[in-house]
Amino acid sequence: MAAKTVVVVGGGLAGLMTTMKLAEAGVKVKLVSIVPVKRSHSVCAQGGINGAVNLRGENDSPYLHFEDTITGGDFLNHQPPVMRMAERAPAIIYLLDRMGVPFNRTHEGMLSFRRFGGTLKHRTAYAGATTGQQLLYALDEQVRRYETAGMVHKYEGYEFLGIVKDANGNCRGVTVQNLRTMEIEGLASDAVVIASGGNGLIFGRSTNSIINTGSPVSICYQQGALYGNPEMVQIHPTAIPGEDKCRLISESVRGEGGRLWTPRDPMDSRKPTDIPEKDRWYFCEELDPVYGNLLSRDIVSFSIYCVCRMGKGVQGKQQVYLDITHLHESKGGPYTRQIINDKLEGVLEIYEKFMREDPIEVPMRIYPAVHYTMGGLWVDYEKGHDTAIDIDSPRNQMTNIPGLYAAGECEYQYHGANRLGANALLSCLYGGEIAAQGIQAYLKQADVSGEDAEALVAKAVQEKRAEYNDLKKSNGTENPYRLHAELSDIMWNSCGIWRTQKELLEAQPKLNDLAERAKKCALLDDSGWSNQAVPFVRSVQNMIEQSKAIVAGAIIRNESRGAHFKMDTPDRNDAEWLKSTLASYTPDGPQFTFEPIDCCYIAPRARKYRINQNQIVKEIMGEDYLKSVGGA
Ligand SMILES: Cc1cc2nc3c(=O)[nH]c(=O)nc-3n(C[C@H](O)[C@H](O)[C@H](O)COP(=O)(O)OP(=O)(O)OC[C@H]3O[C@@H](n4cnc5c(N)ncnc54)[C@H](O)[C@@H]3O)c2cc1C
Repeated sequence: MAAKTVVVVGGGLAGLMTTMKLAEAGVKVKLVSIVPVKRSHSVCAQGGINGAVNLRGENDSPYLHFEDTITGGDFLNHQPPVMRMAERAPAIIYLLDRMGVPFNRTHEGMLSFRRFGGTLKHRTAYAGATTGQQLLYALDEQVRRYETAGMVHKYEGYEFLGIVKDANGNCRGVTVQNLRTMEIEGLASDAVVIASGGNGLIFGRSTNSIINTGSPVSICYQQGALYGNPEMVQIHPTAIPGEDKCRLISESVRGEGGRLWTPRDPMDSRKPTDIPEKDRWYFCEELDPVYGNLLSRDIVSFSIYCVCRMGKGVQGKQQVYLDITHLHESKGGPYTRQIINDKLEGVLEIYEKFMREDPIEVPMRIYPAVHYTMGGLWVDYEKGHDTAIDIDSPRNQMTNIPGLYAAGECEYQYHGANRLGANALLSCLYGGEIAAQGIQAYLKQADVSGEDAEALVAKAVQEKRAEYNDLKKSNGTENPYRLHAELSDIMWNSCGIWRTQKELLEAQPKLNDLAERAKKCALLDDSGWSNQAVPFVRSVQNMIEQSKAIVAGAIIRNESRGAHFKMDTPDRNDAEWLKSTLASYTPDGPQFTFEPIDCCYIAPRARKYRINQNQIVKEIMGEDYLKSVGGA
């Protein structure tokens, strides 16, 4: 029997893991990526990957990792898939180690683990501060072996345009566009995996790369796939705001002992290193003395935001200090410059390059930035014996469209309302692994013999060519780059870290208006070679549709949970909202259904941090302020 073929859209960690596992099992893969796979956004990941290996003898365990992930996610994650992911994490780290990832080591030659947010354990394996790059390159080498063996064919520089379904609704291939020749092609297959990463560009400046438009998710959503928890967007506490993007300063900096503070007098004109301890406000450490600077991300970001909103940031500006100067031996700390660099060089270099200050000598100035999307394509799982995942079920990682799978940041499964730091790389690799297993089961049983996939994709290619030619002729009045700027302003101001029902409702007509205007763009470039204008217009249209779902999800979720904090309803409401929001696309706007959360291992309870956003507002801003902005 001829080998089965699967299209994988995305060559980041999730896509490469899926590809490697499928090829290993004898399934042929057509791997599509808009950029060369080694430039996928996973390459930016700095801090590390979680796995409860417990080499420090801290009594850590996959169970505690599971529990931290669920608490971090504010109980919005289905528990069986998270449990399986936490159980697989140590094996995945050892697999990467065997592939040659240069993880940092202890003096004894053991893997070194650092602390990250939302946990009290040392659970994060790391390769300096360039972990994503090391992981991506290791997997890329594995995939190249299968490429040489004829099992993998890469389509680098190709943009995903849509899935192709047969009459029964099964996914049978995709259409793509070669971004050099602008030729549109069809790739027939027996199943498709979307592994296209996040959508930070919706918010304009974020820690993401400019390819992170989320277009493939938006396209699948517009073609009938469910979009889970769209309102859940993570804002990372520590980034360097820039004109083009916000550069991440990884949580590993706090994991290694970095402290957040502002001067008690924000206008204090002394150099930060001359300000004595008594005149510094270590606000996170005051808010929660146990977790301190390693509270979960949603809480730390929110604290910084509130501090700055009250004019208490450094010099009254939108900035606070992230300080590691005390770690150096010259300030009485435990480390030499070389040891600090062994742990953090990649990220400290970024700071020095863009801010022209040495962060070992001078505290860094940072502010929160959009970073990650917990929401994404809805994917399924199946429980087998008792409550555990049936790893051979075709349902694992499958969307509601048969034969369409998703893995990595583009899907919604593992992080609930807030992702724990260093759990993303893990969920990409675990998601890719279990997706490949699910697809193999699907390929054995799926009955897709009725229609010829080649004929189906050929027809879809004709339609996409017609759409492209129409778009290329567009000679309206709107500038797509300006539309994108307006979109990101709406999204950051109305649906960012600080949400109110009123502002969210006001955002809706603005998005509808943008969607209409995006149909009338002025074509800035009509060339037939490497045309950049048409793909950008397409992305803007897709980002607007996705934004409508994000805002509508935030409106409908009438509570606060994890990264979603709404001033009008500042508390978590398990009685009504222990459920995922599932958006379905309609031309008139998103429609929602709801899915109860599977809490089969631990019952929802208050998070274990001393503080939550509602209390932060009260402690930092005062009760009156909360009332004045319409809060409880
Ligand atoms: C600066 C930064 C640092 C981070 N550090 C950490 C960390 O230390 N630990 C951690 O756990 N997580 C970290 N994260 C999060 C983590 O890196 C990402 O969630 C993860 O790498 C995403 O991997 P992915 O495979 O899902 O997608 P990506 O790596 O983003 O890959 C997406 C793939 O899809 C392709 N693609 C996208 N759009 C299209 C399209 N339209 N057509 C065709 N192909 C397309 C791209 O070419 C790419 O190959 C960090 C994130 C950022 C932004």
